[in-house]
Amino acid sequence: MTDVLAFPQLEIPNTIAAGPGPGNTDERVLARYAGAGLADHMHGDVLRGMVECKQMLREVMGTNNVHTFGVAGTGWSGLDTMFSAVMPGDKVVMFVNGTFSGIDGLTVRMKAASAEELAANSLDPQAKNVIIIDVPHGQSVTGEIVETALAQHKPKWAAMAHWETGSGRVNDIQGFSDACEKYGVMGLVDAVSSLGVGDFRIDDYPGVHGWASCPQKGICCLPLTYAPVSFSDQYIETLRASGTRTFCHHPILEARHWGIIDGKDVEKGTYHRTHSAYAVSAFHEALRICLQQTIAQRAADYTFHEAALKRAVEVMGCDVTSNMPSLVVLNLPEALAGREMELVQHCRAQNFGIWPTLSEPVQVRIGILNLLNEAAITDIVNRFASALRDLGAEVDQDSVDAVLKGHYDAAIAAE
Ligand SMILES: *Cc1c(COP(=O)(O)O)cnc(C)c1O
Repeated sequence: MTDVLAFPQLEIPNTIAAGPGPGNTDERVLARYAGAGLADHMHGDVLRGMVECKQMLREVMGTNNVHTFGVAGTGWSGLDTMFSAVMPGDKVVMFVNGTFSGIDGLTVRMKAASAEELAANSLDPQAKNVIIIDVPHGQSVTGEIVETALAQHKPKWAAMAHWETGSGRVNDIQGFSDACEKYGVMGLVDAVSSLGVGDFRIDDYPGVHGWASCPQKGICCLPLTYAPVSFSDQYIETLRASGTRTFCHHPILEARHWGIIDGKDVEKGTYHRTHSAYAVSAFHEALRICLQQTIAQRAADYTFHEAALKRAVEVMGCDVTSNMPSLVVLNLPEALAGREMELVQHCRAQNFGIWPTLSEPVQVRIGILNLLNEAAITDIVNRFASALRDLGAEVDQDSVDAVLKGHYDAAIAAE
């Protein structure tokens, strides 16, 4: 028999989640998670909560798409649902400029590959109908790149990350949507790191027919809840015509539990799979917080505080190569080049949760998800400065303090 004493109760510390995600879950979300009663997934209040989540999500995403709902799990769960409409043999153009769009590319190659192509290299299939356009790490996908590729290949689908979290780059969603419209291509977008952080309405991009996000970045709802997705009527018609080989992540079937049946809102959902009352309750509160704060205000706050962090690390001699408002991706000062992993591990050992890049080149990533105040930014900056010093760099604290003070004083003066 196993000795249970060999497995004491699991304690997990609270860290400063200063990475690309997960972000800091709001206390109100955790309170709703722990406060919900145990009720099954067909209980009236759970079903009502899901219908309300669906309605709030349409507002958060800025859409009239009927097929807007949450997929249980993480970002990849939503993305798998979105890419489920891609069938073997479909022609797809993928724009890849970092780790996550790279994995989106792998997902699409797995779905679009023929049976022979999949069997030939099942974990990394090369599908001849999938054209991967590689954009170097640290650069954005531009409208011009998309336009050129779609004009040449005229695929059925095109896909891109809205914001590539691996390299911290914002891609040109307007250019992507315009080119998709122009060439009659259905655009699919990985909006995992932009939803709830950037100020955009998905209905402003009619070339994009599928969107997928995640719970734990801009929506600040880590306790494993829902990955938001939204699909145009054209996407749903295309999917209905081709079918797809999944029950669990089938966009039409999954929508039923959220009260979306035959393309229409109904009062109450019908069974698709078990949902957690805790998760529904937490997700509901996270969406209420988004709408109370407003997407526009959150976006303005991210831009403002990211600028403070960026200026402070630049004063320390770091070179910032990102342009994402929730994340700074940087090269260390010359003297510390090559010691990125050591620095990140040193910070993480103190529960200061910054990250390296997950694919080459090795850089450092510092994020500010739900850390939108002067005290939190100052704490991140000071911890990072002292970690640099621990590794032997010279950091002039007075200059760092002056930059932060200048940034925040200017904001007070402007009010
Ligand atoms: C974080 C992220 C993902 C993966 O999300 P998980 O929640 O880890 O499944 C995918 N795409 C992008 C752009 C991301 O930032």
